[in-house]
Amino acid sequence: YSIFQRGLIQVLNIKVEKAKELKQKPDFNNLGFGTDFTDHMFMMNYTEGQGWHDPRIVPYGPITLDPSAMVLHYAQEMFEGMKAYKTEDGRALLFRPEKNIQRTNVTNDRLCIPKINEEDMLQAIKALVSVEKDWIPTASGTSLYIRPFIFATDPFLGVRASATYLFMIILSPVGAYYKGGINPVKIWVETEYVRAVKGGVGYAKTGGNYAASIKAQMKAKERGYAQVLWLDGVERKYVEEVGTMNVFFKIDGEVITPALEGSILPGITRNSVIELLHSWGISVTERKLSIDEIYEAAEKGTLEEAYGTGTAAVISPIGQLNYNGKIITINDGKIGELSQRIYDTVTGIQTGAAEDSFNWTV
Ligand code: PMP
Repeated sequence: YSIFQRGLIQVLNIKVEKAKELKQKPDFNNLGFGTDFTDHMFMMNYTEGQGWHDPRIVPYGPITLDPSAMVLHYAQEMFEGMKAYKTEDGRALLFRPEKNIQRTNVTNDRLCIPKINEEDMLQAIKALVSVEKDWIPTASGTSLYIRPFIFATDPFLGVRASATYLFMIILSPVGAYYKGGINPVKIWVETEYVRAVKGGVGYAKTGGNYAASIKAQMKAKERGYAQVLWLDGVERKYVEEVGTMNVFFKIDGEVITPALEGSILPGITRNSVIELLHSWGISVTERKLSIDEIYEAAEKGTLEEAYGTGTAAVISPIGQLNYNGKIITINDGKIGELSQRIYDTVTGIQTGAAEDSFNWTV
């Protein structure tokens, strides 16, 4: 049957092929991150001249791809990451999905992937989540992770934009990022490798950015650090992001986050935190922030808090930085008051426990 006929979808006529056998669900009280996948997935093809076509929900499983499929050679692909939460009264909530959809098209534009109609993409996400609503875990901190992605499928060796693509959405129930309360992490300030440069693809959510980041991440891990603090690609002077999160510092009462100038991914959590802080009357500045300024503030005793923001953890406090062997500890390695307030408020809105005065949930 089609969801169209059931009145859920106004735009796409999504065909639904139900899985014959449903999987045994994992223990929802002991979930990992990105390890379990639901019973169904969404697929839609693109063909030049025809546009996006054949939207369908099918049983989750492997796909076949020509070995010469362009994505495997030249990495013309994109992905998104967002979450669905279940409220106490059993409704499924998405958090600002239109932002992920807009970012999809910004990434698509940079990667020369055809744009997707915003309403179609929202309907596809809603349709798949509603088919899989029993897969949304409810324990505190858990959610259903949503991974939309698009990749080039032309069987062709040569660098150009593909004429065919596959758009897919898969879902994964994920556990609480923090098992035993929010834990500030140790961060390695990376001075050799960079994540992105202006003019490159740093602001786009494309796999190559992540492939290029692994080496520095491994270097940090080997030295006992959880993540890398990325510096700019020209001078290795200004902070950009922390791991796969945007980064915020609170210095002398002012919250500072690096301005978006092309090499930083415009995080939806980042944007939400900025709006939240404004609404609380706390001053937030988006500007260049040098690692030297951070270390000077630490010396003066004015570096109050530091944290990363992203969909996975919402807030990840930084307890310690190591820059060229110089180690500073932030807020005694404990979570700051503001970080905790942001975490509680954002997760409260996401799960429907707190009032959604910004109209962020769908
Ligand atoms: N930066 C990078 C490089 C990321 O991969 C992510 C995760 N999508 C973020 C920042 C945070 O973005 P968001 O708040 O939208 O999850």
